[in-house]
Amino acid sequence: MGEFDGRVALITGGARGQGRAHAVAFAEGGADVVICDRCEDSDVVFYPLASEDDLAETARLVEAAGRRCIAVKADTADRAAMDALVARAESEFGRIDVAVANAGVSIAAPVQSMTSAQWNEAIASNLTGVFNTVGAVAPGMIERGYGRIVTISSMLGRAGSTNMAAYSASKWGVIGLTKSSALDLAKHGITVNAIAPGNISTPMIHNDALYSMMRPDLEKPTADDVAPVFASLHAQPVPWLEAEEITRAVLFFAAEAGAHISGTVLPIDAGNAARVTG
Ligand code: NAD
Repeated sequence: MGEFDGRVALITGGARGQGRAHAVAFAEGGADVVICDRCEDSDVVFYPLASEDDLAETARLVEAAGRRCIAVKADTADRAAMDALVARAESEFGRIDVAVANAGVSIAAPVQSMTSAQWNEAIASNLTGVFNTVGAVAPGMIERGYGRIVTISSMLGRAGSTNMAAYSASKWGVIGLTKSSALDLAKHGITVNAIAPGNISTPMIHNDALYSMMRPDLEKPTADDVAPVFASLHAQPVPWLEAEEITRAVLFFAAEAGAHISGTVLPIDAGNAARVTG
C-alpha cells in the first residue's frame, strides 16, 4: 500500500526539474498523475524551458512506476487551458486530490532596465499561473470536500535581491495568494501551503545566462566557478540542494494526515530562512 493509493495528483511544470521529481514520487506513492508544461521557450527567459520530449519522459517515468499519467502541453497562464486540463483529469481519473502549483520562470534584470515583457512573463507564469491552478482545481475539491494544494514560492518570496524585482514580486505574491486561498478553502477540507526553496539544482539555475550574471569577470563560467556565489545565498555552506529535498516537503503537505496544516510557508533553503522574518 502506498501513501497515495487511489489519489490523483496534478503537478504543473512537470516536464523536468522539481516538477518531475514530485510527479515520480507521487507515482511511487501510488497516485495517478496529471502533469502539464508549456514546453516552449520564451523570448524574455534567457535559458531554455522544457521540451515536449521532457514532458513525455516524465510521463514514461510515472508509467514505469505503475501509475497512469495524463501529460498535456499547457501554459498555466492560460486559465481556459487549465480548466480544460482539470476537466479532462476529473473525467478520466475521477478526481484531483493534490495540486502542486510548481511551474515558474526566472527573470533576471535590474528594475531600471526591466522591460514590461519581462515583468509580464514573471507575473503571468509565477503568480497568475498559480492563481489559475488553484482556481481550476478548487471547485472539484470543494465538491468532494477534500484537497491538498501546495504552491512553490522561493526564498525570494521573503526577501529582495538585485536583478530579481519581477521574480521576487511574483514569489511574494504567491505567499499572499496561498494564505488567502487557505482561508477561503478552510471549511472545505482543503489545505493550501507554500514551500520557499533556496537554490535548487535544476536547469533554472544551471544555465549559461545565470552563470554569466553571477561571474561577469569570467568569459565562460562553470558550475565550479559559480558555486561559491550560490553558496553565499544560503547560510549553510552548500551551493544548491537537490529537487528531492523539495519533494519531501511536497509529500508532507500532500499527506492525508496534514489535514490541519494550512496557510503555512516552509522554507527549504539551507538556513537562509534564519536571515529573514516571517
Ligand atoms: P525548471 O526550469 O527546471 O522547471 C520549471 C518548469 O516549469 C519547466 O519545465 C518550464 O517549462 C515550466 N514552465 C515555466 N513556465 C510555465 C508556464 N507558464 N506554464 C507551464 N509550464 C511552465 O526549474 P525548477 O527549479 O524545477 O522550478 C520549479 C519551481 O521552483 C518554479 O516555480 C521556480 O520558480 C521555483 N524555484 C526554483 C528555485 C531554483 O533554484 N531552481 C528556487 C526557488 C524556487
